[in-house]
Amino acid sequence: MSETGGLVDTFGRVHRDLRISLTDRCNLRCLYCMPAKGVPWIPKPELLTTDEIIVLAEMFARLGIVEVRLTGGEPLLRPDIVDIVGRLSSIRGERGPLRVSITTNGIGLANLAQPLADAGLERFNISLDTLRADRFAQLTRRDRLDDVLAGIEAARATGLVPLKINTVAMRGTNDDELIDLVRFAREHGAQLRFIEQMPLDAGHIWSRVKMVTGAEILETLSSEFELEPCEGRGSDPAQRFVVDGSATTVGVIASVTAPFCGACDRVRLTADGQMRNCLFARGESDLRSLLRSGATGEEIEAMIRASVTAKKAGHGIDDPGFLQPDRPMSAIGG
Ligand code: SAM
Ligand code: SF4
Repeated sequence: MSETGGLVDTFGRVHRDLRISLTDRCNLRCLYCMPAKGVPWIPKPELLTTDEIIVLAEMFARLGIVEVRLTGGEPLLRPDIVDIVGRLSSIRGERGPLRVSITTNGIGLANLAQPLADAGLERFNISLDTLRADRFAQLTRRDRLDDVLAGIEAARATGLVPLKINTVAMRGTNDDELIDLVRFAREHGAQLRFIEQMPLDAGHIWSRVKMVTGAEILETLSSEFELEPCEGRGSDPAQRFVVDGSATTVGVIASVTAPFCGACDRVRLTADGQMRNCLFARGESDLRSLLRSGATGEEIEAMIRASVTAKKAGHGIDDPGFLQPDRPMSAIGG
């Protein structure tokens, strides 16, 4: 436990993992995330500066956070991304330096993977929903598959493991490629994780019926591979399986049909400095305004603790009364 008592909520969950969104901007327009014309961007003055991110991360580390995942929008669009990774990974938490990883669409990684690794990054998480260039262009509204594949190669070349690849399964879009994607991951020494599509898109196109469920994903994979459940899931959102008795694993993140809220250890900081205690929370805590008003560290830490205390037991996506958060995934940070 941290010397400050840790970020423990009313259900006894201890929060160790902070997701920081570095920007809401993106160079893709994935169907399940952003509409073709994009979304109204957060005005620049409202975005946290790098110094503000570091100050807040230091406070979170004092409160027991040991792991930071950078996300967005597309985090590689932040011009000083290498510097941010370097500074974050030199912050000391109760278990040593913060462990910093990144979730990215991979564009730009061909040049940035090694500098990020040199700056102290621990791991890459790259999104890839299809291996077909025409489908990629349709799904992301940009013809950039080759850039993503080059990014995956560069990430692999750094030797940072495990290299994770995230795939959102979509009915009638890429659900005929699930097996090919597992093979691709195996060939690239990566761990593939399939994600159930969640109601977080700005265009509100999500529908429960169109979502490919975790059970369906497993059924498809089982027709080709022998899957053996891995032990010791802990707070991992993915339920993982060993593929054909090999070193390869595949994971399923069934956020909708099999929520893992009971083991959640995550909190979030948006690019404009709002703390969220859940991806699906409907409220936020305005750390940016407090910080800019000259508040003391104790006052800011009190707001962080209050947000954790207010965390609900679960997100309730599958409940009839579920309300989608006001912000889309790209603005919250996935
Ligand atoms: N731009 C980066 C990327 O795509 O990896 C980071 C941000 S993105 C919002 C983070 C992750 O959220 C990606 O793996 C993306 O596929 C996933 N995602 C976005 N919208 C989603 C949705 N509606 N349901 C499930 N996953 C989603
Ligand atoms: Fe951009 Fe990532 Fe959203 Fe796709 S999922 S539009 S890459 S933020």
